[in-house]
Amino acid sequence: MNRTDQLVRPNVRALVPYSSARDEYEGREGIFLDANESPFGPLNRYPDPRQRALRAAVANLKGIPEENIFLGNGSDEVIDLCYRIFCNPGADKVVIFPPTYGMYRVSAAVNDVEVINVLLDENFDIDIPAVTPLLEDDRIKMIFICSPNNPTGNSMDPGRIEFIIRNFRGIVVLDEAYADFSDKPSFIEKIGLHDNLIVMQTFSKAMGMAAARIGMAFASPDILKYLFRIKAPYNISTLNQEAALQRIGDIRPVKVQTGTLIDERRRLAGKLETVPVVEKVWPSDANFLLVKVRDADTVYDKLTGRNIIVRNRSREIAGCLRITAGTRSENDRLLDELGKINI
Ligand code: PMP
Repeated sequence: MNRTDQLVRPNVRALVPYSSARDEYEGREGIFLDANESPFGPLNRYPDPRQRALRAAVANLKGIPEENIFLGNGSDEVIDLCYRIFCNPGADKVVIFPPTYGMYRVSAAVNDVEVINVLLDENFDIDIPAVTPLLEDDRIKMIFICSPNNPTGNSMDPGRIEFIIRNFRGIVVLDEAYADFSDKPSFIEKIGLHDNLIVMQTFSKAMGMAAARIGMAFASPDILKYLFRIKAPYNISTLNQEAALQRIGDIRPVKVQTGTLIDERRRLAGKLETVPVVEKVWPSDANFLLVKVRDADTVYDKLTGRNIIVRNRSREIAGCLRITAGTRSENDRLLDELGKINI
């Protein structure tokens, strides 16, 4: 048994997956009488369960072999699948670094897995002295790292990420949902070097396809075989696979939009710093800004009252709102309304 197999829950290791009609016959031509579908189109046929065309396109886009790519119904599905593969309910634990993305905690609760919170340090980076003693705990099966982090916007120091990957016996899930907005290198190239690393990215942010629910996991085939084994057979609809293929087919507008959003984030950060009610704007490698304001609840309510919806994160980080960079005119409206608030 290799290291991954040892980490996998015994029931998942022993599981014989459902074999769908499209797993058993992969050809595209013929009279299909095998899947109890309707013969009448256009959406009568089940999707490709292994999303071969889309995975080939992602492989090409990212320069990563198809065997290292898994697609989920959003990254949120990948997160949940990881819990179900590696964590025995009621027994195992994970480590997360709050304040961070909420689904790591929610998915843990759904799967009856205990969460150990190791708070980010004063620079919102990983607190290595605090996490180091936990790295040898065999009951801790996964560590979630979000970089760039939601809601703080900063990237984690790559040396600290590397330290955790090298010294932890369990699985490191590195969530790079916002990596396209950052000039720091992705860890995607390192999956071949580490048999315990899963890098997640998504079509929901820079690719502009949150509605299509497509998340990507990059890892060794030894890990991905378990994701394929336990996922729902047809986890991504044909409509969404095709939409994503189309988007990848012409990637230039995505690159232009990403550049525009990075410029807008910079412009917005600069302008926000001059707004009286704003106390602090943190640097961001994402498409949003963490902003401390004088009275977050009041500012949030006043903005909402003017039909501008931001995220109130003040329960997680005192006084803070998270503001996504929109179009130039949306951002100007926000600045205008914020400038009028007097408290
Ligand atoms: N990871 C992070 C850090 C996120 O902020 C989000 C969405 N807010 C997700 C994952 C979820 O991505 P998806 O839409 O692919 O499920």
